[in-house]
Amino acid sequence: MADREVDLFVIGGGSGGVRAARIAAGYGARVLVAEEYRVGGTCVIRGCVPKKLLVYASHVHHEIEDAAGYGWSIPQATFDWPTLIANKDKEITRLESIYTANLDKAGVQIVKARAVFQDQHTLSLSNGETVRAKHVLIAVGAAPNHGAAIPGIEHVISSNEVFHLDTLPKRILIQGGGYIALEFACIFAGLGSDVTVVYRGENILRGFDDDVRAHVRKEMEASGIKILTGCTVARVDKQGHEYSSRLSNGTSVVSEQVMFAIGRNPNVAGLGLEKAGVALNPQNGGIAVDAFSRTSVPHIYAVGDVTHRLNLTPVAIREGHAFADTVFGNKPTCVDHADVSTAVFTQPEVGTVGLTEEQARSQFARVDIYKADFKPMKATLSGRNTRMLMKLIVDGESDRVLGCHIVGDDAGEIIQAVGIAVKMKATKADFDATMALHPTAAEELVTMRTPSAQHVRGVAAE
Ligand code: FAD
Ligand code: NDP
Repeated sequence: MADREVDLFVIGGGSGGVRAARIAAGYGARVLVAEEYRVGGTCVIRGCVPKKLLVYASHVHHEIEDAAGYGWSIPQATFDWPTLIANKDKEITRLESIYTANLDKAGVQIVKARAVFQDQHTLSLSNGETVRAKHVLIAVGAAPNHGAAIPGIEHVISSNEVFHLDTLPKRILIQGGGYIALEFACIFAGLGSDVTVVYRGENILRGFDDDVRAHVRKEMEASGIKILTGCTVARVDKQGHEYSSRLSNGTSVVSEQVMFAIGRNPNVAGLGLEKAGVALNPQNGGIAVDAFSRTSVPHIYAVGDVTHRLNLTPVAIREGHAFADTVFGNKPTCVDHADVSTAVFTQPEVGTVGLTEEQARSQFARVDIYKADFKPMKATLSGRNTRMLMKLIVDGESDRVLGCHIVGDDAGEIIQAVGIAVKMKATKADFDATMALHPTAAEELVTMRTPSAQHVRGVAAE
């Protein structure tokens, strides 16, 4: 006999779980959320939000450097890492209490415990309770992957620990060439650390447009970040207060911290999925779901990072909402994962939506490329050595804008708005009919008149 009975048991109080719980409760369902760590999940507690606060802190350094050209003389500025971390922690605690209060207000019960399946309808909690549920939503997210167990792996930190370092490392080695590695490389470089990035492939940001990859790398290197490609960290040895990382190319790098950001694995282990009969997706190791986020068991659903589809907060939230509409709101809704805007909060920032040039050329017979690479106005007086990239990928037959890629200040803010146009299937003519807003960097998006390249399948580019 279970201790409680509910209509919906949500495992995980993160982005997807919280949204699903609130919406389902709004439809009148009796909902219980189990959270084993802190309400808010990865994004709020140790992901997007604290990361962006550190990005802002890092930007201040650039603003101070840029000030002189604009006539400001600023006495020697100093930076205090413990103050930043304490302020960040305070803000995260504030947000956690807002998330908890919002669940309360919606009538959702919260239990601070780990939940695992006992059978298809019964969950055991680490506080000893058992709960019987008509429906279960698995929204347990993902966790940092540390890769192969190399010697010295116990010295390596992940994004979980990086938010709680006691001191700002003077030197840090970061392995990985994706979102987290590069965002933290730029955060630390901006705060004054000496940063080395170690990436196994030829160039960072695999999967992004090649011009974006080249541009970001050049800018990061110009800002003093060392990027070592074609190698991995083979072992890490402690030497007093420092670490010596031996790389696969035979060289070594000494640093005060070694961080790996080499992807995240769906949190499927130890959840009792086999007792519930929930199948995994053999292609990505996440929970297998259909377009409605339904698992192999009809009354059990899964959303967010645990499904390893598109691991972004707004996507997890949208999937959680669609689940609640479908199951409790009598409005079957599936999520459209196409043309999702995304930003990498490097310095300079990347904003991207839609197809890369490579993807477009493999899918469309005629592809026109519009590209602008320019010194932003702010960099004239500041003297900062930086350039901005704007690139539009256009279907040469229908004139539809298939993709937009931006590297530079506020790229994330700009791409969010461009994403609406791309989602509405705007054409290049629609972009051109839009009056420029001067003087901005974004006006380049509506003033690029001449293609920089036109690709016709089977014919060499013009
Ligand atoms: P989560 O938010 O991870 O929530 C899962 C919750 O389940 C966790 O709170 C966990 O403690 C809990 N849990 C796990 N197992 C159990 C269990 N058995 N019982 C009870 N509770 C359990 N995305 C963006 O869109 N923009 C960004 O800028 C961005 N930055 C990021 C920066 C970092 C450093 C990281 C790590 C991620 C970032 N992301 C970003 C990704 C984003 O955080 C995730 O896509 C999002 O949090 C996924 O939401 P979710 O609901 O699937 O899982
Ligand atoms: P990513 O998938 O973005 O990058 C992982 C990186 O690690 C890649 O460069 C990958 O190389 C490399 N890698 C993978 N396995 C190994 C290995 N065994 N040894 C060495 N290198 C390896 O993952 P992150 O961890 O950076 O972030 C996880 C996810 O979280 C992101 O994909 C994104 O969905 C989300 N996120 C979103 C953010 C945002 O929206 N701004 C910010 C942070 C995270 P290769 O390319 O060769 O496979």
